[in-house]
Amino acid sequence: MTKKYCSFCNNQIQFGGGKRKLKDGFICQNCLKQNTQALKISELFNLGKMTVENVRDSIDPSRVAFKDSGYTLTESIGDVKFDDNNKVLYLGNDQNEIQKDTSLFRFDQVYGVEIKEDNQTISSGGLKGAIVGDVLLGGVGAIVGSNVGKKKSIGTCAKLSVKIYLDSQTTHYKELYLINNQKKPIKKDSSEYEKSYEIASLLEAKLKYIIRKNEVIR
Ligand SMILES: [Zn+2]
Repeated sequence: MTKKYCSFCNNQIQFGGGKRKLKDGFICQNCLKQNTQALKISELFNLGKMTVENVRDSIDPSRVAFKDSGYTLTESIGDVKFDDNNKVLYLGNDQNEIQKDTSLFRFDQVYGVEIKEDNQTISSGGLKGAIVGDVLLGGVGAIVGSNVGKKKSIGTCAKLSVKIYLDSQTTHYKELYLINNQKKPIKKDSSEYEKSYEIASLLEAKLKYIIRKNEVIR
């Protein structure tokens, strides 16, 4: 018997493990469970008629918004969508912003990226000197924090985000949260943290590449 893989998480589907067949793939029980609420009842009953792409669109409507703008999805990292041919990216809505209408940006508007963990910058690119102060402040803050004797949870993470700096009049940056759970921080040795961090790193790498290209053109 050939091995079957989930078209969403890429995990192998165990024999006897619940799965649903799609027109051109499979969705495992776990992925289905996680996304049940995003799917319409009529879709849940007709999964066999849906393609993987259909299901992805239903789970993440911003994909449709992106495509409706006339762009083609060439790569998708987390919630960020790229059209590498037209050099635009779609950043969706983050929870902290006021301007909710601006989601599409040109590659050449991206000039900086940071990975932030529990409000500290742990990695950055493109920002040159400007970022040093922030990093130093983060460092001082961390030392002060530990001196105060506040219970410091080195082994957990409450917030993990990628902050993307944009050359735009209305949206100066977008901060996309991969983990945002102040009440119940996630253990750093968990697979959830690992997965989130991987997405953050992939996103950072892609954006650094875009920034690098921008710099070469300028
Ligand atoms: Zn799956």
